[in-house]
Amino acid sequence: MIIVLRPDATDEQIAHVKEKLEAVGLAVHVSKGKERTVLGAIGDERVLMEQPIGAFPGVEKVVPILKPYKLASREFHADNTIININGAAIGDKKIQLIAGPCAVENREMLIGIAKEIKDEGGMFIRGGAFKPRTSPYTFQGLGLEGLKYLAEARDKTGLRVVTELMDPRDLEMVNEYADVIQIGARNMQNFRLLQEVGNYDKPVILKRGLSATIKEFLMSAEYIMSRGNHKVILCERGIRTFETATRNTLDLSAVPVLKQLTHLPVIVDPSHGVGKWDLVTPMARAAVAAGADGILVEIHPNPENALSDGEQSLKISVFKEMMRQLRLIAQAVGREI
Ligand code: PEP
Ligand code: MN
Repeated sequence: MIIVLRPDATDEQIAHVKEKLEAVGLAVHVSKGKERTVLGAIGDERVLMEQPIGAFPGVEKVVPILKPYKLASREFHADNTIININGAAIGDKKIQLIAGPCAVENREMLIGIAKEIKDEGGMFIRGGAFKPRTSPYTFQGLGLEGLKYLAEARDKTGLRVVTELMDPRDLEMVNEYADVIQIGARNMQNFRLLQEVGNYDKPVILKRGLSATIKEFLMSAEYIMSRGNHKVILCERGIRTFETATRNTLDLSAVPVLKQLTHLPVIVDPSHGVGKWDLVTPMARAAVAAGADGILVEIHPNPENALSDGEQSLKISVFKEMMRQLRLIAQAVGREI
């Protein structure tokens, strides 16, 4: 439930309400808004049946959160959440570009790509060191070696590193090298993995599962947040439908829907959404127009020889042209990229 404090509530009154809620076993999250403070109390609310919290000094009203996701809901936190990642904000006016190869393949290509991203004003490089491949016989990623190349690219360019975590056993290692941990679509409902990253302070990009509803997507975000990590960025990356003309069906309506339901930043991955390089730019344009806070896109110096997802990777000249177009769209909707 949400406990809305009066604008003139004193710090002592707020602390008193918080103590009372904690004493009955609820987890309390304090959110200080511009005008007033709001307390979110999460847990079995039946314990409050006997407690007249609404009558406590400083309390204006007590409102139940009707949604099954609590911490992730807009009811709980009305303002957009802005996640600051070493000086790069996601969820603010600037739409963040997160670009890079599907998989880290070698040092040279990664450093080369990092420079191109930087040239385009990007602040994040992505690349998988652990790859969730459909076939066990295809390239699985370089593992620790790949993480080291990502860190080197960061050292050389100042870009922030986004990389996927597949297994809780790798969490310590990935946490050491990554600035943002990506949870892939196939692991969106790997609840133990979600809880583990929830125990860390590291920002998480949570990708929508292949057949996940918006509600299930937000419940997965809630799994991470319920452990204390509120730095969750939602990523729409296409869902599986009857359509086979594209790899997945990019659900761009998820962007405004999520914006209504949650305060968390929402980014779009058009690459996995469509699966074909020549469809990526139009969908990236549409994502920017729809209100996405970031674009996650796969790029490669030589897509024909890519070890994974070459068909959907943009070669550098196409990437640059996409960015030129995205700048125009961003400006038209009052944003920048
Ligand atoms: C990826 O980003 O490389 C990836 C594997 O994405 P997804 O989990 O969305 O398939
Ligand atoms: Mn990929």
